[in-house]
This record gives sequence, structure tokens and C-alpha cells, in this order.
Amino acid sequence: MIIPKAVFFDMDGVLYDSMPNHELSWQKAFAAHGVGFDAVEAYINEGRTARGTIDTIFLKRLGRRATDAEVESIYRTKTALMSQCPAAPAMPAMQPFVAFLRTRGIAIVVVTGSRQPSLIDKLSRDYGVDSQHIVSGADVVHGKPDPEPYLTALGRVGMDAGECAVVENAPLGVRSAKAAGLFTVAVNTGKLPDRYLLDEHCDALFAGTEPMCKAWKEIIDRKH
Ligand code: CA
Repeated sequence: MIIPKAVFFDMDGVLYDSMPNHELSWQKAFAAHGVGFDAVEAYINEGRTARGTIDTIFLKRLGRRATDAEVESIYRTKTALMSQCPAAPAMPAMQPFVAFLRTRGIAIVVVTGSRQPSLIDKLSRDYGVDSQHIVSGADVVHGKPDPEPYLTALGRVGMDAGECAVVENAPLGVRSAKAAGLFTVAVNTGKLPDRYLLDEHCDALFAGTEPMCKAWKEIIDRKH
């Protein structure tokens, strides 16, 4: 673990326990269109744009890409289902950890593929993050696993990759962060075996957010 000047946090599965909602909504949205979807695929494809996820599932199940109309229809269904899900709670230990990092002068940026309009209000309320410190799906041309989202975050803080660290829970998120040259901490909060994260060459791996926060806080405290 390192002592960074900025930490870039992924959102779903890192700041919020929201992946069960995504998993269920994707499953029901594909089923409504007669396309199969395993729960585990929500985690394997986590971080992709909606189009990327839908195309990946279509290629696997039907041997072709989805049409624009199919993408729009499935995504509309998924969004409607998500809005019916219960609000996702913050992940354990994350709110006090983010507050702790701020007391040590460490900058916080949230890097997510999500484009939910309520994103800014939610992150401001729960984590004290303003819009300048959010890189959303609307801010990039190429989403994860492309490095663009994390390179954009580096631009926001005006720092070099060696000064910053990332917290990710998804294999494609780790791939994106590593491609941007960043020290990447993985937390396995989903349903995939550890090897999915290790195969993407994360620099550290924890079984959840609580042990990650505890270990990192101890290291930072020792230095200050
Ligand atoms: Ca995630």
C-alpha cells in the first residue's frame, strides 16, 4: 500500500452496496427481451457502458451485436427496474475512511461509468464530493476498461499517476486503472473468485471495504 496525494474511488460496489440492484435489474431486463443473463455476468461486465454490456451478452448468447433499438429498449427497462430498487446503502467503513483521507489532505475523486442524474446530489450528501471531483460516464468517450476515465481523473487533480491510487471492485475497472498507470487496490465485494481481480494485476487485494480501510488507515497514520 502507498500513501497517495489523491485517491480515485469507483462508485458501485466500492462507495455503495449497489451491485445487487444492478444484477437483478440486468437479469430482469434481459429476461423481458427473451435473452438469458447469469447473475455472475453482472460482475464480469461491471464497469462497461450499458451498450458495451448489452453487446457483450448478445454476442455471447445470439452471436450478433444488439441493434440500436434493442440497446435502447433493454436499457430503458433496466433503468426503470433500477428506479424501483431500494436505495443502496454506503459500503461498510467507507464514509469515515473518505472523511479521514480528507483530514490528511488527500484529494478524493469518484470515477464511475454511471450517468444517473441524481449522482452529484447523492455523492455530495453521502461523501462530500462536489461535481468537479466526479468523472461520470458523461465525461468520457471511452468507458472502462479503457484508461480514459482514470486519465481524466488525473487531469482533474493535476497530478502524476505515481502520486495517486485507485480503489476498484471490478476486473474491468482494475484493467482501466492499471492501463492509466495507477496503483490499484481491489476490494472483492462481488460474486467473482479473487483470480478475476488478480489476473488484472491489481497491486493489493482485500476481501471487503472494512479490512481495506483499516489496513490503509494504519499505514497512513504511521507516516503522519
Ligand atoms: Ca464498481
